[in-house]
Amino acid sequence: MSELRTAQQRVGEARTGLVVMKFGGTSVEDARAMLRTAAIVRGRRERGLAVVVVVSAMAKVTDLLLAAAAAAGRADKAGALAIAARLRNRHLDTAAELLCGELFTQIERAIQVEFDALDDLLRGIAAVGELTPRTSDNVVSFGERLSSRMVAALFEQSGLDGVHVDARACIVTDDHFGKAAAQEAAIERKLTELVLPLLYPASAGLYSANAERGQTPVMGGFIGATAEGITTTLGRGGSDYTAALVGGGLHAGAIEIWTDVNGIMTTDPRICADALRVKTISFEEAAELAYFGARVLHPSTILPAVQKSIPVWVLNSRNAENEGTRITAMAPPCASPFKSIAAKKKLTIIDVVASRMLMSHGYLKAVFDVFDKYRCAIDMVSTSEVSISLTVDSNERLPEICAELKKIADVKLEGHKALVCLVGEDIRGHNGIAGRVFSAIRHINVRMISQGASEINMSFMIEESDVEDAIRSLHAEFFAEPDPTVFDVEARVVAVKA
Ligand code: ADP
Ligand code: ASP
Ligand code: MG
Repeated sequence: MSELRTAQQRVGEARTGLVVMKFGGTSVEDARAMLRTAAIVRGRRERGLAVVVVVSAMAKVTDLLLAAAAAAGRADKAGALAIAARLRNRHLDTAAELLCGELFTQIERAIQVEFDALDDLLRGIAAVGELTPRTSDNVVSFGERLSSRMVAALFEQSGLDGVHVDARACIVTDDHFGKAAAQEAAIERKLTELVLPLLYPASAGLYSANAERGQTPVMGGFIGATAEGITTTLGRGGSDYTAALVGGGLHAGAIEIWTDVNGIMTTDPRICADALRVKTISFEEAAELAYFGARVLHPSTILPAVQKSIPVWVLNSRNAENEGTRITAMAPPCASPFKSIAAKKKLTIIDVVASRMLMSHGYLKAVFDVFDKYRCAIDMVSTSEVSISLTVDSNERLPEICAELKKIADVKLEGHKALVCLVGEDIRGHNGIAGRVFSAIRHINVRMISQGASEINMSFMIEESDVEDAIRSLHAEFFAEPDPTVFDVEARVVAVKA
């Protein structure tokens, strides 16, 4: 049968019958959302697809776990345990709504055991009064550990052959806690060893009464472990990245990112209510958007998919019929220069003014080495005869970075800045775009400008408080008459009628 043949494929060949489906926090936020998720997965299996499911923690759980960890780090044991108690009840209530019989008993016990362990961990942190990145990762991992157990049990109960896989056994990372780097070769080996036989039982030489119909592995996104087994995380929003790593490692035919909007939109619909769905977008465009702040995708998501040319879809779990956005190697040409506008807040501009040696050989290197040492990514750079302006995420290492820079320059910081980025492959073919962009936002003070090295983005820095105004003005300028081959114009017609 085709599925068996798929299982026997040589490594490197795409398993077109395999789809990795990732459900974000809102898609598993409560019992109703989890049931919707089960229905969507059922639909894929009924089409004969093998499915691996990656889930985020239930909505807001990661934030609350971080708050509990921070409280414990301040020695506020009672505060930390109170948050954990609320989370315990939320998980128990959801399990009670979803599951019955022996399955409920099993999951209830598992939830209690996990929360007892979490309480112990928080007590330990509070006793020392110090939170390390390593312990923080351990605390925050409970969100995905629990949601994945519950969803796997629901899938078992619902006839979807759900089976839980501990992501920490497969997603091997380095020990950069808080934002660990994935080790793709090791991940591929683990997935082949632990997940593939669940999908295609016969290929592992195991007897199965239902050899052509494998199970549905469910794993938590965002979390991983070092080769020594110490829990790590991939950075906020990292479940998308897990999905791409799993899709890449298993050579899946498609990766689906299920979220709470109809796909990648022309801008964040929370900022601009008439944002439109982008039907198809290129890997390169999606990567720029994700990097420059469109939360709908984690910035690292695209890479494993690109390397193996796996199409990625962004879909709405509250509106499963919608076609979503397809991200592929090549996007069709578009009549408008831009596909989408993103914004990244909480940035700081650092002005480095050379006291001596003006831009002499090796000076830029000395400046960049400081950022490298603190693993601090720079978003935008502009130089003049005597100064360099750089923008960085406002991270907690800024004081140390500045102290080092002051050894070689005068340094000035300006916080509360934001970067607005317009992305589109078709910028290339259009003249006079910069004129249109800056005339649309002429009432806003622009601090730095860059036309991206990739030639598919145009970005500028403004005050954080001007972001919404800038985005709405640009959206009105560039998406008033959208190209219907690329954008879902119907959506606007419906919105206007409603
Ligand atoms: P999930 O929990 O499913 O991972 P996220 O909250 O991380 O969901 O991402 C989805 C959100 O991303 C949307 O609700 C939307 O507000 C925001 N967003 C930002 N930019 C865009 C964009 N260009 N297109 C779609 N959504 C966007
Ligand atoms: N739960 C994690 C977060 O909120 C990871 C994710 O949802 O992608 O950041
Ligand atoms: Mg997300």
